[in-house]
Amino acid sequence: MPAARVAHLPLQRIANSWLGPGRHFVHYWVAGGRYLNFVAVVPAGDWRVESWSATGEVADALAEFAGWHPTVQAIIGAAERTHRWGLYDREPLTTWSAGRVTLLGDAAHAMLPFMAQGACQAIEDAAVLARCLADAAPATVADGLRRYEKIRQPRVWQVQRASRDNVVTYHLPDGDAQRARDARYAALMAESPWAARGWLFGYDADAPATG
Ligand SMILES: Cc1cc2nc3c(=O)[nH]c(=O)nc-3n(C[C@H](O)[C@H](O)[C@H](O)COP(=O)(O)OP(=O)(O)OC[C@H]3O[C@@H](n4cnc5c(N)ncnc54)[C@H](O)[C@@H]3O)c2cc1C
Repeated sequence: MPAARVAHLPLQRIANSWLGPGRHFVHYWVAGGRYLNFVAVVPAGDWRVESWSATGEVADALAEFAGWHPTVQAIIGAAERTHRWGLYDREPLTTWSAGRVTLLGDAAHAMLPFMAQGACQAIEDAAVLARCLADAAPATVADGLRRYEKIRQPRVWQVQRASRDNVVTYHLPDGDAQRARDARYAALMAESPWAARGWLFGYDADAPATG
């Protein structure tokens, strides 16, 4: 939604995640702060539609987060429209290439968006793939693709696993495990929000070690 629709809310210029039993809510700025996007993850119930363009109702989203923090409800209430996505998880694929053909992005490693990494991993794939192909002579393109797979698979499998782990971590019911999680996250935020994710954000697709 345009930033003007939430100008009355005390939102910082950071990405925010709100975690609760069985669901979570993320909001972040895009286009240099001109728009706010939110992603609200809720149990699917009976809804089963595989689409990139299905629309939802703001009232339904509000109902899903009834009783949550007023900021969450105010953000949802400020939206003009919502879209709905079914989330489908896939087991990691061990083969991406056949001869001179290969896959990258979601086709190679669809993952739950619980690390916000699907598109990022596709971009990393592209950088490494370009380098592997540039290094390969035309006669050895298949070797270049094998090298690309070898470099990229351990990386994306780690991100896929971390995304899957967050299904549990993000959606813990209230209780000891949830309190321990919150304390762990609070300590990390006090130290540095990026400290625990150095393995993720420190990846350099151009470094010799990654290809
Ligand atoms: C709710 C949600 C939140 C997300 N949040 C983040 C995030 O914060 N950060 C992040 O990095 N990622 C995020 N992702 C993941 C990200 O959207 C995907 O990982 C990314 O779009 C994958 O890009 P891709 O190019 O591999 O595939 P796609 O974006 O799926 O592109 C494939 C394209 O191919 C087209 N196509 C399919 N079949 C054919 C055909 N036969 N002929 C021609 N065209 C065809 C499709 O229409 C589509 O346009 C999120 C995903 C969801 C669902």
